[in-house]
Amino acid sequence: MHGSRWCLGFAMLGLVLAGVADAGPPAAPPPIVLEGARLIDGTGRPPRDNAALVIEGDKIIAVGTAGKLARPKGARVIDVHGKTIIPGLISAHSHAGLVAGTANSADAYTREAVQAAAILYEQYGVTSFTTLGLNRDLVYELRDQQRQGGAPGATIFTAGRGIGAPGSVPPQPVQPDQVYRAATADEARAQVREMAAHHVDIVKLWLDDNFGKFPKMGPEVYRAVIDECHKHKLRVAAHVFYLADAKALVAAGIDVLAHSVRDLPVDDELIRALKAHGVFYIPTLNVDHSFFVFVDHPEVLSDPFFQRAVPPEHLAMLQSQAYKDKVLANPVVAKERAAFAIAQRNVKALHDAGVQIAFGTDSGANPERIAGWGEHHELELMVGAGLSPMDAIVAATRTSAALLKAADRGTLEPGKRADLLVLAADPTADIRNTRQMVMVWHNGKEIEPRVPAGK
Ligand SMILES: [Zn+2]
Repeated sequence: MHGSRWCLGFAMLGLVLAGVADAGPPAAPPPIVLEGARLIDGTGRPPRDNAALVIEGDKIIAVGTAGKLARPKGARVIDVHGKTIIPGLISAHSHAGLVAGTANSADAYTREAVQAAAILYEQYGVTSFTTLGLNRDLVYELRDQQRQGGAPGATIFTAGRGIGAPGSVPPQPVQPDQVYRAATADEARAQVREMAAHHVDIVKLWLDDNFGKFPKMGPEVYRAVIDECHKHKLRVAAHVFYLADAKALVAAGIDVLAHSVRDLPVDDELIRALKAHGVFYIPTLNVDHSFFVFVDHPEVLSDPFFQRAVPPEHLAMLQSQAYKDKVLANPVVAKERAAFAIAQRNVKALHDAGVQIAFGTDSGANPERIAGWGEHHELELMVGAGLSPMDAIVAATRTSAALLKAADRGTLEPGKRADLLVLAADPTADIRNTRQMVMVWHNGKEIEPRVPAGK
């Protein structure tokens, strides 16, 4: 009895092995050729018409003109005449796992929530995003698993917890292990070392008082954060609001201003310093706009491109009279309107002066900052501020990749990752056409857009 079972098991193992041997190694997917589209490659060069782009594995291996560029043997050719291709969007300032249901919650940061956010971003064409602070340490595991090919969704870059002053910004309710609070330079240095040991992609600090409500981080503390980061070859991004703080941070060596200057017009002194130090500037116009956009523009709430980004109860909350009443009664909204107007003028002035403008939204930070939709909205706001659609696209692709030191993405050139959007219409004619997604490709894999063009 025992012997026969053993023999049967052995025979079945033999069948399984024979089956594997017969099938051979799993066939690699064929190369993909996208032919005939207008190509905006993210470098800022003029669009190339009737382009051909060849994808092999997770990379772009060739770019040229359809009909002239040779198709690799066995390639799957996809006709994309009449369409426009742009690189996948890269957000250098977003968040995940901070909102549960319709409100911020200290219990929102779970592996499932961050994973769901990554999937949503990808389906909205944001193929890479940065969780810029307020992360539990599980983010490192998820990021590393993703890099080994074991987790789906937009590629996660992370700033880990980030560092704020005690009793100050960021004000979100979070777990104690979700943000560091540094009272002294020594504490700040130890916190940076802890994040460096996790191979954080960038470090975040907060320097603000939320219209006078909180104490600000002291100069000795933010100087220590920046100095310790640079010892570990890490870039530092700062939450900022005031012109004077922006100048002090740039003087201290900050690498990225993660929001607009919103109290005063930027001046020559700041512009010179930003350029001299090669500082990146992320305007996040969506932040200030989010305080009033749904009341000023209620039509947004009936747009399917918006609606598919939020769960039904969240949409119902934003559509409710109670929400509208709350916005209309909130004294901060008038300040945010003024801040938004200054932020628009400042990004235009800085761009015209040659400062590196990157891209981010602060989406996911609270229930009014809508991941996925927010990135397309930000592009529209940047164009509204006076940047050309091409400038806005370059900010959201090449420049944000440069900010993250992610040399493998951001432009559509041979050797780069195959992260791209096939659009039904040309965004240089109307930036809102970035919403007309026919296909999303990420790491050479086709992803169904959350809201496909024309559907
Ligand atoms: Zn943020």
